[in-house]
Amino acid sequence: MAYVLITFIVLLFLNIYCSQTSQELFIQSKEDSMIEKCHLAAAEVAKLDVLNTSTVSDVISRMDSLRNTRMIVVDHTATALYDSNSDNSSVGTFVLLPEVVEALTGKLGNDVFSYQYRDGVMQSRSATPIVSYGKVVGCIYMMEHDTAQGALIQSLQRNVLWITMVLELLVFLFTIVFAAMFSSRLRRMLASMRIIRSGDYTHRVRMGGNDQLTSLGDEFNSLTERLQASEDRRRQFVSDASHELKTPLASIKLLTDSILQNEMDMQTVREFVGDIGNEAERLNRMSQKLLSLSKVESTPEVEYEIIPMSPTAERVLRMLSSLAAENSITIETTFEEDPPILICEDDLYQIAFNLVENGIKYNRIGGKLTVSIFRNGENAILQVSDTGVGIPEDAQTHVFERFFRVDKARSRSTGGSGLGLAIVHDLVQRNQGTIMLSSKAGEGTTFTVSFPVFDPEEVGE
Ligand code: ADP
Repeated sequence: MAYVLITFIVLLFLNIYCSQTSQELFIQSKEDSMIEKCHLAAAEVAKLDVLNTSTVSDVISRMDSLRNTRMIVVDHTATALYDSNSDNSSVGTFVLLPEVVEALTGKLGNDVFSYQYRDGVMQSRSATPIVSYGKVVGCIYMMEHDTAQGALIQSLQRNVLWITMVLELLVFLFTIVFAAMFSSRLRRMLASMRIIRSGDYTHRVRMGGNDQLTSLGDEFNSLTERLQASEDRRRQFVSDASHELKTPLASIKLLTDSILQNEMDMQTVREFVGDIGNEAERLNRMSQKLLSLSKVESTPEVEYEIIPMSPTAERVLRMLSSLAAENSITIETTFEEDPPILICEDDLYQIAFNLVENGIKYNRIGGKLTVSIFRNGENAILQVSDTGVGIPEDAQTHVFERFFRVDKARSRSTGGSGLGLAIVHDLVQRNQGTIMLSSKAGEGTTFTVSFPVFDPEEVGE
C-alpha cells in the first residue's frame, strides 16, 4: 500500500511540475516577443530629434508589426505622447503605471515585464526606456490581452491532469491485480503447509513464476523432501525393529506353549527354559543396542576429551579377553605412535568394543585378531583386523545399515542384532572420524577408523 501511496504522490508532484513548466515556457516566449517589439519601437522613436505627439505617431504608424498591440509612448516626465487606443486615449496625461515608472527610473536600458493570468486570460505588460545620447528620454509601454494563449495553457494543464489521473488509475488497478495474485499464491503456500502438517509428505507446492515466492516454494519443497526421507527412515526403522523383536518373542511363546501343552521330562523342560532364557537375553541385548542408537541421535552434545586411543583400546581388550579365549582367538596389539585426539571417551570405547567383539565373533576357531594404533599424516588410526569369515563384496556397502546381517543364522547364534556396526558408524561420524572396511570372504576383515590428530596450535590460532 505504501508503494501505491508513493506513486500517487510522485504523480501529483509531476502534475504540478508539468503545469508550472508549461506556464513558465509560455510566459517566457511572451516576454521575449513583447520586449522585442518594445525594443523595435524604442529604437525607432530614439532616432527622432524632437519627441512630440505628431512625430511619435508618425513613426509608430509606419511600424506594421505593432498594429494589434495596445501601446503608449511617454516622455521622460511620463506624459503620454502617443496611445494606440484612440477611443480611450491617454495622450497628454501622466501615465504612472508601475512598469512605466520602473522603466524611466531604473537602470539604463532596463526592460520591465509583468503578467497576470486569471480565468483563462493572460494579461502581459512590458516597458522599455527610450534612450537617446545616453539619456532616458521616454519609454514604450505595451499591453496584450491573450485569450488564445491562456486557453492553450489551460488545455495543456487539463491534459496533464488527465494523463496523471489515468496513470494513477492504472497504478491502482495494477496494484489491485498484483495484490490479488500475490495473496492467491500465499494462500496456495499456506494450504500446502497445512497438508504437510497433516502428515502428507508427498505433497509439493507449485508456485509458478520466477520471483522470491518461487524460491520460497522450492525451499519449502526441498524441506518437505527431507521430511519425507526422514519419515521413511523412521518407518523403516520401526518396522525393522518390530520385526527383529518379534522373532525372539515368537520363539519364547512357542517354547512356553510346548512346555505347557506336552508331557515332558524334567531334562527337556530344563533345556526349553534355558532356550527361553537365551531368547530373553537376546531381547535384552537388542533393546540395549536400540537404546544406545537412539542415544547417539538424541544427544548430539557430548563431553569431548583430548586423549590417546591406546588406554581405551586396552580396556576393551581386557573386557573381551575371556570371549576371545572361549573361541581360542589370539589377540595381537601393535601400538605405535599414539597421538592425542579430541573425542568422547565413551564413544571411543563403544567403537573399539563393537569392532573387537565382531572380530572375535566372526573369526574362525583358533584365529587371530590384530588391533593396531598408529599415526598416518594428520590422522590417528585404529585398525581391527581378523582372520575370520570375511564379508562378501556385495554386502560390504550394507554392513553399516541397521539390522543388516550377512549370515542371519550365524549372527543369531552369536547373539548378533545387526545394530553394532550402525552404532559404530554413527559414533565415528559424531566424532569427526571416518570408517573404512576391506574384506575378503573366507580370509578376514579389516576395519580402519581414522580421527584427526588434535593439534593445539591449530586450536590456539
Ligand atoms: P551383529 O550384531 O549382527 O554383529 P553388526 O552390525 O555388528 O551386527 O554387524 C553386521 C553384520 O556384518 C554382521 O551380522 C556380520 O554379518 C557382518 N560383520 C560384522 N563384522 C564382521 C567381521 N569382523 N567379519 C565378518 N563379518 C562381519
